Amino acid sequence: MLWILAALGCECRCEGGKVFVANLPESLRRKIADDDLLRQNFSAAGTSDAEYVVTVDSPTLRSLVNELKATQIIGRAAPARQPESVRDVSQRLFDAYTVDGGSVHLGGCTLEDRPILRVTYFDRSVASDKKTRLRHHFITLAGEPIDRSLVERLGLKQLVPLNRSIRVADEQCHRWQHAGEMAIKRLGQVNASDILLTTAVWCKYAEGKLSFVIGDATTSIAFSNWAQLFVDGSAKPPALACPSFPRGSHRLAATDDGEIVPFEAIATCCESGKRVLSGDLETCRATSANALPEFFVSCPASGVRVLRKALVACDTCQQMVSPMSCEATQCSACRSLLKVSKDDPRMARLLGEYPKLDRWPWWKLAETATAYVLVANSLVKRLLIVVDKNDLEVLRLAKGSHFSKKWTEASEVDRAADLR
Ligand SMILES: [Zn+2]
Repeated sequence: MLWILAALGCECRCEGGKVFVANLPESLRRKIADDDLLRQNFSAAGTSDAEYVVTVDSPTLRSLVNELKATQIIGRAAPARQPESVRDVSQRLFDAYTVDGGSVHLGGCTLEDRPILRVTYFDRSVASDKKTRLRHHFITLAGEPIDRSLVERLGLKQLVPLNRSIRVADEQCHRWQHAGEMAIKRLGQVNASDILLTTAVWCKYAEGKLSFVIGDATTSIAFSNWAQLFVDGSAKPPALACPSFPRGSHRLAATDDGEIVPFEAIATCCESGKRVLSGDLETCRATSANALPEFFVSCPASGVRVLRKALVACDTCQQMVSPMSCEATQCSACRSLLKVSKDDPRMARLLGEYPKLDRWPWWKLAETATAYVLVANSLVKRLLIVVDKNDLEVLRLAKGSHFSKKWTEASEVDRAADLR
């Protein structure tokens, strides 16, 4: 109410729920005085600095609104309380973050006036005592209703006349007026004649970028929202997220590689002591320790990834394998030797390379990722031979018998006698 009068050039104040108007412009007074119901009031007042009482449902209000519509099509207002400068917003933006060993700066920010439409109408649904109530319905420019809590938080219930001029073409004003009328019709139970006025409420909208610096590392985060929400703390600028911490965080820290990431995304490699992204670390299946992949190997027997330092030697094939694939000091390959015929391509390849092995009648074979483990049997003797899968180089040659599980390393003489 006050801002309508102010927008029309009146000085006014509000006392005890009534509005008192002083300095009613001559042009306006003539128009309002034409109203039958008010003529008496105004003519009685006489002088230009007299005070006139205007109640919410009085025809005076209609007259004032009609005058406003005739000259300006729609009302123009702003929240009584909202940030006016970037400085009002920036500190609140900074306060949202904790930067370990670094700082946050504004990498650019604009405070732009954006309109929200307020449609004012008479609500006759509660008119049991023959009094009508004025109601406001807030919508976006597209006509979408604005959530009640946002109306509260943006201070849209306490408006003041716009203290600066924002040019809006008449055509645009008509479009917004129409959008307001359509929105009210969608509410139902409101007649077109009950719509009083559409007002563009200009609210400050903040948009920009925050820059973070930790040592030589930098990163930035874009933000945008109603400035008032940043100021009252009901909205925060976005958290920094990364694949290692997709939820994002407002606490930022740098990895040893100089990347700024969420604090929660950083973990320490137990081998190198480096602070890295937790997603870059692997977990050892044997020890549960986390370390960078360079400290890991795949167990040749089981394929499981374990820390290199966690590997143990298999007593039989003497390959380094994961402790989990070892049972009674024997790897899973050596525990699962299967009978194989000399027609098997792997045997054919081995016998081609070492023809003397052909005199052993019975064979068992197992393979790991890198080696063949073979045990040859005759009536009384056994021979263990471990060869590299790639080049068939002999990794171990040992002799045994059927009466003992023990293997004895073959001498150079034995090697010559047994292999070529
Ligand atoms: Zn083994």
